[in-house]
Amino acid sequence: MANTITKDEVMLRMHDIHKSFGALEVLKGIDLEVRRGEVLAIIGPSGSGKSTLLRCINKLETINSGSIEIEGEFLAVTKENGQAEYAESKKERQLLGCMGMVFQQFNLFPHMTVMENLLEAPMHVKGLKREEIEPYAKELLAKVGLSDRADYYPSQLSGGQQQRVAIARALCMKPDIMLFDEPTSALDPELTGEVLKTMRELAEEHMTMVVVTHEMAFAREAASQVIFMAGGNIVEQGEPEAFFANPKEERTKAFLKNML
Ligand code: ADP
Ligand code: MG
Repeated sequence: MANTITKDEVMLRMHDIHKSFGALEVLKGIDLEVRRGEVLAIIGPSGSGKSTLLRCINKLETINSGSIEIEGEFLAVTKENGQAEYAESKKERQLLGCMGMVFQQFNLFPHMTVMENLLEAPMHVKGLKREEIEPYAKELLAKVGLSDRADYYPSQLSGGQQQRVAIARALCMKPDIMLFDEPTSALDPELTGEVLKTMRELAEEHMTMVVVTHEMAFAREAASQVIFMAGGNIVEQGEPEAFFANPKEERTKAFLKNML
């Protein structure tokens, strides 16, 4: 899919997304757009709906209403009855296959080596043969600085190394869009730098990324757009320079003051 899209193409568009858990409305009409090569940083207080929004993008959570468009095709649209309906299963699989995700808690398979973690989805979801994907997996391990750890088990690695494996594992599926949910929040402070460095390198290579983060320096330097969420709404949005230097909304100002 990647080679058929042009530079300005919208990779992800969400319109009027509503999501409730029972009586609790967590997303109250979210609109956003991410173009090819952009890095969207999503910041905001705990409980504001950031993870839920990210999880709605790749259908780890289903939306109640609104629309989700991936690379010009609808993953979900709202019908006349007001309910969101998802694409048929083949189309849905194809669109979800455009995305890779990295979680706060790494989520590596503990009983598999690093290399087996990387090969698992390409072999068992895409049906590739080991020899077709292993050279690429090795390249990715080199890229995240872990060539010498291919035969280790996750428990034998530091948190920062495990998270870099998780990034390489997601990349091994050749996604067009990478989703990150607070990828450094579970790490000791001295280990966040190595993970952020890997993410900055991806951004420099023009990977399209949506990153929920508490790392304001990363958002400021690596993002092309910043969204501040509170209470299930987008309160403020802008390019990082203006957003951080001159936030307009009181809630944004109060949040940023606390983060410094
Ligand atoms: P954030 O990532 O910004 O901290 P979340 O998206 O995780 O926020 O959560 C937003 C709100 O939704 C919170 O009140 C949380 O308790 C609630 N929530 C999240 N996931 C679920 C779930 N699976 N079931 C019920 N409530 C949930
Ligand atoms: Mg969260």
